[in-house]
Amino acid sequence: MTWSDILLPSREVPLGGVRGVTVHRTLPHRDLPTVGAWCFVDYFGPSNSGMSVLPHPHTGLQTVTWPLRGEIRHKDNLGSDIVLKPGELNLMTSGHGVSHSEFDVAGTGPLQGLQLWVALPDHRRHGPPTFENHVDLPVIERDNLRATVFMGTLGTAMSPATVYTPMVGAELSVRKGQAQLEVDPGFEHAVMVIDGKVSINGLGLDRTQMLYMSPGRTRISISARSDARLLLIGGEPFDEELVMWWNFIGRTHEDIAEARGDWASRSDRFGTVAGHDGQFIPAPELPRIRLNPRHRRAVPTA
Ligand code: MN
Repeated sequence: MTWSDILLPSREVPLGGVRGVTVHRTLPHRDLPTVGAWCFVDYFGPSNSGMSVLPHPHTGLQTVTWPLRGEIRHKDNLGSDIVLKPGELNLMTSGHGVSHSEFDVAGTGPLQGLQLWVALPDHRRHGPPTFENHVDLPVIERDNLRATVFMGTLGTAMSPATVYTPMVGAELSVRKGQAQLEVDPGFEHAVMVIDGKVSINGLGLDRTQMLYMSPGRTRISISARSDARLLLIGGEPFDEELVMWWNFIGRTHEDIAEARGDWASRSDRFGTVAGHDGQFIPAPELPRIRLNPRHRRAVPTA
């Protein structure tokens, strides 16, 4: 299978909840479950409807929260209670099981940001949960471009955040004009437009669209017709099969069914997030069909 540049549209997904937030989701895509170990990309806002996500569980993944506007208060069963501001990173590694809540901080909106997941490799997914908050992240500046590296490595810049597979996650700010970004040819990459009018490698992208690039590329060409902001994700292709359902990542249907059962029975696996008076998001019913891993499929090239 040959993969060259492939344009991935976002789809609007209503997250439900009290205020009915709608997000733009680009990953997982029907034909592309992962880019490196990145397996989930949600972009939201700018919106005044805020964020109110009661305690819910995760397994087998890292949640990466990167606000662009507004502030988010994170609490988890490890006792963390952190107000996150734009330019700062929250990284929660679920390992075997964790639970958390996320709410906007009144008066700091409108809220705009990215919520991303990274799949944990098998040797880490059974380990303990951890939480990290990073306020000091490395920045690379090139002619027209400024990159804040929040996960992994880009050129000489390395984020202090803990990663378990070789990867990059960065916010790119580009001024009107041309920019070249050197990237690791061992990685596959994807770029999503947050705002601005840009072409990547000669291809025009709309807001919230993503361009996938296969490994072997040494640079990404960006042409901006206005000031723009982009999300860059990438990494070594992740070759473990993933079964993803609701907030869980496993390897089999049984992994997911067990995690769901543990959340439904309020088992110690996920602990308790303080300060919510026992409120939480109940797990949806499992589908009647067996959950299977998703595979990459050939898609038309852009
Ligand atoms: Mn979550």
